[in-house]
Amino acid sequence: MSKLPHVGTTIFTVMSQLAAEHNAINLSQGFPNFPVDPNLLELYRSKLGENVHQYAPMSGLPSLLTQISELIEASYQRRLSPSEEILVCAGATQGIFTTIMALIDKRDEVVILDPSYDCYEPSIVLAGGIPVRVQLNADFLPDWNAIERAISEQTRMIIINNPHNPSGTIWAKSDMDALERLVLKFPNLLVLSDEVYEFITFEEKHISVHSYPSLHERSITVSSFGKTFHITGWKMGYLTAPNSLMIEIKKVHQFNVFSVNSVAQAVLADYLPTIDVHVLGKFYQDKRDLFASLMSTSRFKLLPCDGTYFQTAKYSAISTESDVEFCTRLTTEFGVAAIPISVFNGDGSDQHVIRFCFAKDADTIQQAAKKLCAI
Ligand code: PMP
Ligand code: GLN
Repeated sequence: MSKLPHVGTTIFTVMSQLAAEHNAINLSQGFPNFPVDPNLLELYRSKLGENVHQYAPMSGLPSLLTQISELIEASYQRRLSPSEEILVCAGATQGIFTTIMALIDKRDEVVILDPSYDCYEPSIVLAGGIPVRVQLNADFLPDWNAIERAISEQTRMIIINNPHNPSGTIWAKSDMDALERLVLKFPNLLVLSDEVYEFITFEEKHISVHSYPSLHERSITVSSFGKTFHITGWKMGYLTAPNSLMIEIKKVHQFNVFSVNSVAQAVLADYLPTIDVHVLGKFYQDKRDLFASLMSTSRFKLLPCDGTYFQTAKYSAISTESDVEFCTRLTTEFGVAAIPISVFNGDGSDQHVIRFCFAKDADTIQQAAKKLCAI
């Protein structure tokens, strides 16, 4: 008996393993390959000698909770109570799982927008809820008519992801306004807003749920230090929720992990006031532009990328294979690993689009683009 009969190994593990076996450049799983800020490492080394090695308080070190509330206030002009409305998590993944476990009851419906990040659906299923998958439109933006058709009195939550993995799109103000109207129309509906790429945006900033006061009482936001500080392996993130929901989320959190890595929390509490997260957009925009300019002579057609560190591309000028077959061959024959988008669609529909991660040093981007341009 399996609680998740349709779930296998994640595409990120599968493609990273294939890349390693074939010695391919790994632009599949999303993680940076350049060094972490030396100041962060130095802080870590010096923290190790301090008294930071026993359990942190259940919801997070007070100093880190305060720094997170200041970051949110500086970024979105929203003031949150560090003790009541913020929770430090072992990465966004745990924040999402814990939120769904706490707030989704048996047979509650949860709307997710395809292509959707892979941890949403299994978390809903494990909570006994019913995932309702609605396809984004051809530009990977919300189709509000389809979303509204999918929502009923049984719908407890909609999960949104903005900036969007895998497509790199950002919602327009009209999309956020449509979300607001939806929440006002359905009083039972909660919003789980996955904003892990909130600081990786380019020409335009994304509009956070934090900037919509009418959504605050019914929204949970999730953030990841892994993305913001190039430390995906630390598995550190946080969520915010109004106190009434946070009480329930913390009930699950205390038995799910109890509390999160104490050393990492102490280090991040000291690091946060020293950095400006708003330089991250320019940093990744340069990488996006380098990859795009090198790829301009290739037969791939790059799609718009407004945020995240992912570049999507169509390959119809090269092959009619499925995206999974094409990504496999790209890795094994051409030496570059990418992610097929169809695995994020509930019905497996294949738009013949693949995703490259450009969170890589210039040398890696150049070598990968050279191989891709030769195809
Ligand atoms: N949501 C999205 C959209 C992601 O891309 C990721 C990871 N890359 C996560 C959640 C999970 O973040 P974390 O690594 O902090 O668990
Ligand atoms: N979020 C990363 C990506 O989209 C992968 C994280 C993971 O491997 N679980 O590539």
